[in-house]
Amino acid sequence: MTAPERRPPAGARPALEGLCAALLDLPPHEARVLANEVTAMSRRFPSHARLALSAGYATTDVLSLLHTGSRLHRLDAVQREALFDRLCAGTATADLVDALKVPVLMTHGSLSAGPEMIARLTEPPARPDAPLDVTLSSSWPSRSLADVVVIGSGAGGAMAARVLARAGLAVVVIEEGRRFMVEEFRNGTPLDRFGDLYRDAGATVALGRPPVIMPIGRGVGGTTLVNSGTCYRTPDDVLLRWRDQHGVDAADPVRFAPLLDDVEATLQVAPVPDEVMGENGRVALRGAAALGWSSHPLARNAPGCGGMCQCAIGCPRNAKFGVHLNALPDACAAGAVILSEARVECVLHGAGRATGVRVRRPDGSVLEILAPRVVVAAGATETPTLLRRSALGRHPHLGRNLAVHPAVSTAGWFDERINSTRGVLQSAGIDELHRSDGILIEATATPPGMGSMVLPGAGRRLAEQLGRIDHLATLGAMIADAPSGRVVGARRAIVRYDLAKADADRLVRAITAMGRVLFAAGATAVVTGIRGHETVHSEAELVDAATHARHERLHVAAFHPTGTARMGADAQCHPVDAAGRLRGVRGVWVADASVLPTCPEVNPQMTIMAMAQAIAQGIAG
Ligand SMILES: Cc1cc2nc3c(=O)[nH]c(=O)nc-3n(C[C@H](O)[C@H](O)[C@H](O)COP(=O)(O)OP(=O)(O)OC[C@H]3O[C@@H](n4cnc5c(N)ncnc54)[C@H](O)[C@@H]3O)c2cc1C
Ligand code: SF4
Repeated sequence: MTAPERRPPAGARPALEGLCAALLDLPPHEARVLANEVTAMSRRFPSHARLALSAGYATTDVLSLLHTGSRLHRLDAVQREALFDRLCAGTATADLVDALKVPVLMTHGSLSAGPEMIARLTEPPARPDAPLDVTLSSSWPSRSLADVVVIGSGAGGAMAARVLARAGLAVVVIEEGRRFMVEEFRNGTPLDRFGDLYRDAGATVALGRPPVIMPIGRGVGGTTLVNSGTCYRTPDDVLLRWRDQHGVDAADPVRFAPLLDDVEATLQVAPVPDEVMGENGRVALRGAAALGWSSHPLARNAPGCGGMCQCAIGCPRNAKFGVHLNALPDACAAGAVILSEARVECVLHGAGRATGVRVRRPDGSVLEILAPRVVVAAGATETPTLLRRSALGRHPHLGRNLAVHPAVSTAGWFDERINSTRGVLQSAGIDELHRSDGILIEATATPPGMGSMVLPGAGRRLAEQLGRIDHLATLGAMIADAPSGRVVGARRAIVRYDLAKADADRLVRAITAMGRVLFAAGATAVVTGIRGHETVHSEAELVDAATHARHERLHVAAFHPTGTARMGADAQCHPVDAAGRLRGVRGVWVADASVLPTCPEVNPQMTIMAMAQAIAQGIAG
């Protein structure tokens, strides 16, 4: 670990230093540096997350006192190891250790690998930053007019803005986050980029058993700034269900196909070329082939990808073709303007129709933009919250029906070097179980440190595994879930997600399937994430591990929240009508992930963009 020591911030307490030393078997000086960095990162978390972390550090310290008679930072390496063996063996204490590992390992990985990640960037970006007409909210007048305001500049908002601007309307896109330039992705540390690019520095968690980690992007380009660039067309059977069961005419596969074609062309979608695939993807394809399973290089929107494996923290080559590089510049070329660092506080309305929006600047001052049409595209967690605080949240289904496409990951140890951070971050897909079980497997590496939370244990054992991380291949699997969650709150989104039993069973099946792929590809051991059976050495052990999996202890993450303002024909069940209009008011449309009636069963960006286009065409028409 080579980071310069930052001035110790106030919160760098001995408990955290002791934890860092114990988790990674570090000498006191390195533990102090790491603890300072963890504290600096945690300052960007919302207060409830910071409080939870502080309580976690304090609890570990108390457990140390109880079990050893000494505080954690006073223990020597042998005592720490004995203590953590004990904590990892208990149920609640193991949950605590798992949770506290997340910020510590992320920070450690970023510090260790950051310099090398930057040094590796020898080639120039694949393209320059796009010309965008962006104005900071601090420079925007307190009162202005527009034909249409689009709230949110992500997948849905960008596409809606493009259609509306091209139709000749005066469009203002309002974005809470800021604009990012490629130079920041080339020079920033992984941790700083992570903290900047995600809402609440990535600390969004859906509450439930198990809790689900749910990172959400924030910036000009929305979550497409940080997504993995995987592109799937919406499956026909999903579209047919939306058309026939929800009355969404635009979802007719024949009508939807040209919209998807347009999105594909906009995003320059193409399969991952072999030369940048990387060993992680090759392992997945090899394992699937050995099992006779259907697999393929993924289709992606990343022309010029150099396999830098940093998509989740902003592409340092500007290769990943998020909407900040296509739909938004197209919209600006047609006259749209983007207002950044501007949080829409509420949609203004009177006499049953929209009149504009009220926006808060970072310094707390407000501005208003008056417009007869408002398109809400703030994402599936923020859209219902914003509508509620605008006194437009009366529909009983608003905020409900949240599907998240829950994901688990499984990793395999190989004798040969995998070097999974060289190559495309999400590179190969295995769809053998997709239509039959709703399980979609994708070879997904992570930027350094961000995936090491799968590794079991603490102390020397964990440090040894981190030392061999180049030999680890990682797969992820998502399952098409029932809409088991909801978003409550008006000032701030609070997400609740109760994994349905059938879905939890499928996640366990997904772990088994990924383990089989890894063994078939030659893995010597598989890291399952199943408590008590974290590492298995054969298929028989893998199957046995699956029988011991407890649903509430699964490590689940989710990247695709949808459905919280679902569209459809039934006024009782759908807060948004089949044309995207919010019910109960005129002049407000929703055009983001919220409107999808159910989980789209594949990575959703293309579906969201195509649906936003259909909705915006309706407005323009
Ligand atoms: C790590 C990760 C990897 C992913 N990988 C893939 C992938 O490979 N393929 C794929 O298809 N999908 C992927 N996704 C999902 C995909 O990117 C999202 O589903 C999609 O971007 C959602 O589009 P959206 O328009 O609903 O919201 P977003 O793209 O999230 O945009 C919403 C925007 O609204 C802004 N906003 C919110 N509230 C306000 C407010 N009050 N005022 C002003 N602005 C506001 C937000 O800051 C944000 O920029 C991934 C997601 C994540 C997190
Ligand atoms: S893998 Fe991702 S971050 Fe790396 S060059 Fe390709 S698109 Fe960019």
